[in-house]
Amino acid sequence: MDYMLWNGRIVPKGEVRVDPEDRGYQFGDGVYEVIRVYHGNLFAEAEHFTRLERSLKELRIPFPYSLEKLSRQVNELVRLEKLEDGIIYLQVTRGTAPRAHAFPQEAEANVIAYASPYPRPVDTIVNGGSAILAEDIRWLRCDIKSINLLGNVLAKQAAKEAGALEAILHRGKTVTEGSSSNLFMVKEGKLFTHPLNSLILNGITRQVVVKLAHQLKIPLVEETFTIDQLFAADELFITSTTNEITPILTVDGKKIGHGVPGVISRQLQEAFERRIALLKA
Ligand code: PMP
Repeated sequence: MDYMLWNGRIVPKGEVRVDPEDRGYQFGDGVYEVIRVYHGNLFAEAEHFTRLERSLKELRIPFPYSLEKLSRQVNELVRLEKLEDGIIYLQVTRGTAPRAHAFPQEAEANVIAYASPYPRPVDTIVNGGSAILAEDIRWLRCDIKSINLLGNVLAKQAAKEAGALEAILHRGKTVTEGSSSNLFMVKEGKLFTHPLNSLILNGITRQVVVKLAHQLKIPLVEETFTIDQLFAADELFITSTTNEITPILTVDGKKIGHGVPGVISRQLQEAFERRIALLKA
């Protein structure tokens, strides 16, 4: 990574300076996006920008220039870095101001973005992974893609220490989503996932999977389900920008279904591959 987008300009990485009084640094007062790049092109760019705009609006952070310009610059970064398969990290904080909790009177949002290589996790996509259950201790606005990620960080660390790929979060008996992914289960040919509300992130990969399920005529039920239902599922998979569609074969060491990637998971993965292939020049 040689370049960064920093407050409206693309500069050599070494020129970027984060002020200790950046509100992102002191309060976690900001939002972010992670956008996938396949074959040198942004995947689902419009959806990411729509979500970014919404997160900013919910937190009342004015974006300092046009999102069209931001989009041009992000695409320029991909070209400059000659990135084929990778990710864009994009972060917007409320700005730099003397430390006080309430919004500063005069502060302009700080914008940072960079593009870096990120190989597709082929092994877990093909062979699946394991998960643990963890209590969802996050705040009640998980729909905002905020840079406050401690609840997610602690859950992911618990998964890592258990040798698992992901932590599946639950509020009481209800399963919500993964620590950095959305969650789907298959039962008797139907696909189930948590409805869109303030308890989960409106994942871009989730949006794509919802569309693909519709095209493939796989019935989709956007309703909450419980831990007991999860353990009785035929198939389970997580979705995210970096992990795409990853089958989950065990949870807390217990097999889900036959303990192998399921038929519907595979069908959706194949359709997802076709979407990616569309980005080839
Ligand atoms: N939920 C949470 C909590 C996440 O952190 C992520 C990934 N950022 C997702 C869901 C999946 O979202 P996306 O498909 O947009 O990467």
